[in-house]
Formats: sequence, C-alpha cells, structure tokens
Amino acid sequence: MKDFPYLKNVVAARLIVQWGFLALVLSIGVRFGMFVRHFESSGAAPYVTRPPGVEGFLPIGALASLKQWLVSGEINPVHPAALVIFLTVVGMSLLAKKSFCSWLCPVGTLSEGAWKLGRRIFGRNFRPWGWFDVSLRSVKYLLLIFFVKIILIDMGGEALAEFLGAPYWAVSDVKMLRFLTHPSATTLIVVGVLTALSLLYRNFWCRYLCPYGALLGIVSIMSPLKIRRDKDGCTGCRRCSAACPAGLPVHAQEAVRSPECSGCLNCVAECPERAVLRIAPPFWRRPIAPMTYACLVVLLFAAGIGSGMATGHWQSALTRADYQRLIPLAPFLDH
Ligand code: SF4
Ligand code: SF4
Repeated sequence: MKDFPYLKNVVAARLIVQWGFLALVLSIGVRFGMFVRHFESSGAAPYVTRPPGVEGFLPIGALASLKQWLVSGEINPVHPAALVIFLTVVGMSLLAKKSFCSWLCPVGTLSEGAWKLGRRIFGRNFRPWGWFDVSLRSVKYLLLIFFVKIILIDMGGEALAEFLGAPYWAVSDVKMLRFLTHPSATTLIVVGVLTALSLLYRNFWCRYLCPYGALLGIVSIMSPLKIRRDKDGCTGCRRCSAACPAGLPVHAQEAVRSPECSGCLNCVAECPERAVLRIAPPFWRRPIAPMTYACLVVLLFAAGIGSGMATGHWQSALTRADYQRLIPLAPFLDH
C-alpha cells in the first residue's frame, strides 16, 4: 500500500463518508425530536419542519408501501420518503454492490467502530466455528423470508390499505423515536448484548441478523461491479482475505460473487501488487479507480433521493393539524 497512496485515500474516504453520513442521520434525528417535542408540549417548544429522511428508519413499512405501489401504482403519501429511500438503497445494490452497508448505513458504521474498538481492547476479534458461523449467517435470510412472506406475499389489498391508512402508520416514525428515547428494560438488555457481541465479532449485527442487509446482498449478486483478481499477477500473499471484514477468501477467487461482499474495498487497499485486485464490471479493460467508486456510491444515493424530491414523493401529505392530533396519541396507539 505504501507504493499506492491513492488506495490509502480510499480507506480514509470511506471513513469520512461513513461518519459524515452518521452525523447527517443524527442531525435528522435531533430535528425530528424537536418537531415531535413541539406537538407533545402543546406548542410550548419551538416548531421546526419535519425532516422526511427520518423515514429511512421505517424499512418494514417501506416494504408494505412497495407492495401498494406494485399493486396500485400509487406511492403511499403518508410516508413517501420511506419507499424512496428503500428503492434508492436497493438500486444502489443492483448497480454498485452492497455499498450502502459499508459506506452509508449508520448501523454498519457503528458496528464497524465497535469491532475495531474491540480489537484494540482484546487484541483481536473472534470468529464462530465454521458450521456455527454458517448457521448464524442464515438467521438474517430467515428474517428476510419472514418479512417478505407476511408483507409481500400474505398481505392482501384490504389489509394493506388498512395498515397504510391507520393512525399507527402515520405516527410510526414517532413510535420509532420513542423506542429509542424511552427504551424498555428488554430493549436495553438486547442493545447491551448486541453491543458486547459487536465488540467481539466483526459486524455481528450486519453479518448475522440484519434482514435489510440480507436483501441487499441478494440483489447485489446481479451487480456488474465485482471485486476481480488478476490471478497471473497475484502472489498469493492472502493480505486481501485477512483484510476482508466478511471473512471472504478473496485470494482464491477470480471474482467475488458472494452476497456478503459489501464493496468496502478493504481488500483492494490492502493488496501490495499494482492493479491485481480491483472493483470493475466484466470485460472492462480499465479498472474503476477506487475513488471513482467512492464518488459513484455517494452520487447514486443522492440521485435516488433527488429523484424522489423532484417527483414530489418526499414530503408527507400529513398536515400540521394532523400531527397536532396524532402525536399526543402516539404512546397509546398500537398496531
Ligand atoms: S471482498 Fe473486499 S470489498 Fe468485498 S467485503 Fe471483502 S474486503 Fe470488502
Ligand atoms: S493481496 Fe493481492 S497479491 Fe495478495 S493474495 Fe490478495 S490479490 Fe493476491
């Protein structure tokens, strides 16, 4: 890596993008908290406009919204940004690997920070035994199958309209905020256990439990961009495999097709040979420069969100009067 400083830059670029995006998500969370506070305090706290980006935390509702869109051609006006963000992230995976996970997802960023911290504390990260690792990895796919079955397959038109028209869906973002700001004892215990496991194991949540990541991984198999290895120039040093947070045997593959590959480019940055390991589409003579890929990831996300805004599918159709009526009811609404 010493000879190719631009590769070091891509590692730094990913960290900047990741933590910058996390800061953006936190600022959206704070603004949304202020918005909710205004209505909870009967107008005593100042009013701020609602940031639609908060709907990125409603992936299950986005799945219901997707079905409504596929069935009726209409985008749910209550939380349109939920579907826009969902489609953007799926589209990114189709074109540029599971890049959302390793470049933008705030949970992925915190997971990565946790295992790096754990490695400093314990001197290493751990890895479950082979068969146990494979069984654990299947959990996220089982969760994905469960959600796809109950929402995309089993939910009929009537049930869908009932769910997406209910006050519960209207304040699902407020419920999500309360889930984070008023955690129950069970929530605290689960978060504590997951944090401890994330310190010990690389990307514990993403690797074993996240159904969103499972979906993006499956979609990313179709992405033309793959990590590709020139076997003639490869010396077999295995530094790429050692650097891979997904534990993939990069040194033994000509193209990494695994749904676990997130396009983080750690392997590319670690390879000591010039142009032996690269991310590129098939039959592409000139490999894509890592920094170009970094820009592509950010631009794809911005383009998806921009399309939603430009077509009027970003701001909720709920009015200030609707929120005035619904937010005080949120703690008492149950699905
Ligand atoms: S194969 Fe490379 S790009 Fe894919 S997850 Fe492993 S280190 Fe990241
Ligand atoms: S780091 Fe590069 S040279 Fe070493 S095994 Fe991987 S691809 Fe081959």
